[in-house]
Amino acid sequence: HSFFENSKNTYREHNNHGVNTPKKLIGDALKERIESIDHDACEAGEEDTFFVADLGEVYRQHMRWKLNLPRVKPFYAVKCNPDPQVIRLLAGLGTGFDCASKAEIEQVLKMDVDPSRIIYAQPCKTNSYVRYAKDHGVKQMTFDNTDELYKIKKLFPGAELFLRISTDDSSSLCRLSLKFGAAMDVTDELLALAKELELNVVGVSFHVGSGASDPLAFLKAVQDARKVFDQAEVYGFNLHTLDVGGGFTGETFEAMAAVLRDALDEYIPSHINIISEPGRYYVSSAFTLACHVIARRTIEDPSRNEKSYMLYLNDGLYGNFSSIMFDHQHPVTQVLRTGDRTYYDTIASQASTDGIEYSIWGPTCDGIDRIAESIRFDHNLDVGDWLYFQDMGAYTKCSATRFNGFSDAHDVIYVASEPGARALMNM
Ligand code: PLP
Repeated sequence: HSFFENSKNTYREHNNHGVNTPKKLIGDALKERIESIDHDACEAGEEDTFFVADLGEVYRQHMRWKLNLPRVKPFYAVKCNPDPQVIRLLAGLGTGFDCASKAEIEQVLKMDVDPSRIIYAQPCKTNSYVRYAKDHGVKQMTFDNTDELYKIKKLFPGAELFLRISTDDSSSLCRLSLKFGAAMDVTDELLALAKELELNVVGVSFHVGSGASDPLAFLKAVQDARKVFDQAEVYGFNLHTLDVGGGFTGETFEAMAAVLRDALDEYIPSHINIISEPGRYYVSSAFTLACHVIARRTIEDPSRNEKSYMLYLNDGLYGNFSSIMFDHQHPVTQVLRTGDRTYYDTIASQASTDGIEYSIWGPTCDGIDRIAESIRFDHNLDVGDWLYFQDMGAYTKCSATRFNGFSDAHDVIYVASEPGARALMNM
């Protein structure tokens, strides 16, 4: 499988032989669904936005992980996209799971995943959720402050605790250390208190920030983690696991993995287990979203002798484009269908520099509900046409709302461009 060594994009663009390329599979699924809709007579909901998920892409990301970080066991961060088929595939591939709430723990346990493959990686937990974790044998959990240690002492003194330290996350898209993580000058007193309370500290965890872009953040975090391992030894703790968190992206994975690998080899002895909590890395590129143009407004500006258009879609910032707001993303609009023609996977669908100008809006009443300010296409787009957006798997549908009465439950059509994924999923 030489494509594992190339970047994902290289594989996507150049592997066009054979019929089951990822693009062909996804394109066929998109077309088939849209062609099945009677746009002139359908019921409300039938022309709703929908996803095509390529489970083969999740599978490839897992193989790429194993190739680059063989020492690090991934615990998929369910919050990023709790899609049941993604969880089922990853459970079959043997990953662990990072859960942030009772509902996530419940969802994973229902797939017959052993509780030892779950880490409740939320440093500030709800009392009743801690009791639930205890009752279901989910022992691994994180903490980063003294109040939480007292809570755990009271509710689950046998828990296996990971001290989460803060990191330099200034180069990441979503900074997490503003909210979580113990500063390095308080780790010693936290360990002292844990000892006094006779709690069971088993590891250290960190997160360099979601959508991290500076691989050196991993080096610094591993160095800091090593200091906490040494501090813990003084208190008689025998830490056995380091959790290096998430923050990986498909675009920069090899560079990050190289820095992390070297840092682990230099600072963390080989008998220490290494786990991680990747979310975005696994699912971002696996999901493609298709949206329908529900309305159009023509803009005639007398000072320019061209017409432009506002297009209103059936999905927006309060829906699957919540990633624009919460995750600082810039989804790229592409044309899927105009009239009776479909353009998926053709150059004609790409934005152009001198075509017709459009702005793209969501369906709600709010002015911030805008997907793209200005984009040009050679096509004359109108109501009933379809647009699509790639790389919509991370932090999209999981943070969609029902604002203005629009649905937050959208169909996912599953395809699998890898035989290994098809075998595991019986597809
Ligand atoms: N672990 C924790 C504790 C998180 O808060 C997050 C994201 O917010 C993740 C893992 C997943 O991060 P990412 O999607 O960047 O890999």
